[in-house]
Amino acid sequence: MAATIFALSSAPGRAGIAVIRVSGDAAREAFETLTGRALPEPRQVVLVHLRDQAGHSIDRALGLWFRAPSSFTGEDVCEFHTHGGHAVTEAVLGALGRISGLRLADPGEFTRRAVEHGKLDLTAAEAVADLIEAETEQQRLLALRQQEGALAELYGRWREQLTRVLAWVEAAIDFGEDEVPETIWTSARHDTERLSYEMRQHLDDSHRGELIRDGLTVAVVGPPNAGKSSLVNVLSKREVAIVAPTAGTTRDLIEVRLNLSGYAVTLVDTAGLREAAEEVEAEGIRRSLIRAQNADLRILVLDAADSGAAMKLPDEVRRGADIVVWNKADLCSAPGPAALGISARTGAGISDLVEILARCVRERLQLSREAPVLTRARHRASVEDAVRALERALVAPAGAPELMAEDLRLASRALGRITGAVDVEQLLDVIFRDFCIGK
Ligand code: GDP
Repeated sequence: MAATIFALSSAPGRAGIAVIRVSGDAAREAFETLTGRALPEPRQVVLVHLRDQAGHSIDRALGLWFRAPSSFTGEDVCEFHTHGGHAVTEAVLGALGRISGLRLADPGEFTRRAVEHGKLDLTAAEAVADLIEAETEQQRLLALRQQEGALAELYGRWREQLTRVLAWVEAAIDFGEDEVPETIWTSARHDTERLSYEMRQHLDDSHRGELIRDGLTVAVVGPPNAGKSSLVNVLSKREVAIVAPTAGTTRDLIEVRLNLSGYAVTLVDTAGLREAAEEVEAEGIRRSLIRAQNADLRILVLDAADSGAAMKLPDEVRRGADIVVWNKADLCSAPGPAALGISARTGAGISDLVEILARCVRERLQLSREAPVLTRARHRASVEDAVRALERALVAPAGAPELMAEDLRLASRALGRITGAVDVEQLLDVIFRDFCIGK
């Protein structure tokens, strides 16, 4: 029998209230031991007086009781909403730890149990983690959509359709080819083709979901002294909502995380791009070129007071830029009316740049309202597996329905792995690795 688990489910530290959650068969005993009273009706809040086993008063709190299976985990669950002080929560956790059969929950264990009891599929469990991690509006909306089952529904529907096709093909195997009308074959192939097409469409989303979830990378490139670092500084101060400036992987790459009109963006300040005289600098430039190429968007910063440097830039840098700005507009105006002049020093033109950048990001990431999107490489890999299996199924010789059936089964299995309908045991450890305690 699984142990009953407990944990502080709200953030540790001082707060108005703290939520302590207990899940498992001994949840009832935990509730009765700490409150000294009988269980309330399920889902009713009661005011309780918490005491430890020695009868010492701990806190007055709100108590809730959820009877299995109508709870988050699908098990008996009780919750205490205590005052949010460290000593209070420690005392409650200590008292719970002394009840036999209870132990502290592992990271993500509540959600894991919810999956094991069929309360959540894996994509919904991942969405719980994403919702907790969400820093921007778009990340939150994406996670919410996934939590509400958008992906699970799509994959479930595809699996049902595969099962139907598979049933026809299996019938063909059982009855022998001659007894199965030709139309069955035609529709089986037709449906397989359509499913493979739909899956390829689903994959062909320019990684929007993954980019919204992980954040889009914007590289700031340009010749040395054009004002790249100054610009990154100005932008990060303006949009500082979620900013935690961190030194990048090398001395030459500085990253700043921004919340740009609801989208998470990582701004990367790269080293100066120029013909390098010395080796160390050449290495820095090589890295920044790679980083710029791998970025999702590139802002090219040029020095309005030094157009000579702009001319000397490698062609690929100029052509690869999504936005070009002429900095130091306070010293010298931008060349031509179409060129965007800014000043990292005075702030002139910065709000125009933010607007243009936000528009680029929105264009890149805007989701259609209806179609659910992939949010993780894990989903993508499985859908790709499914498509490959369907493509094999389509080239199976007409005389070998067993081959087609096998590939249809593999496709269905690949999709089932995304939601945890199959192979769930192998996936749980991987998925819950990133969770924190109390979730
Ligand atoms: P980077 O090498 O491209 O990162 O350039 P920096 O941001 O380090 O800036 C190089 C020099 O230009 C510094 O001395 C900055 O103070 C100066 N600078 C940056 N932006 C402006 C600006 O808009 N106007 C003026 N006048 N100077 C600037």
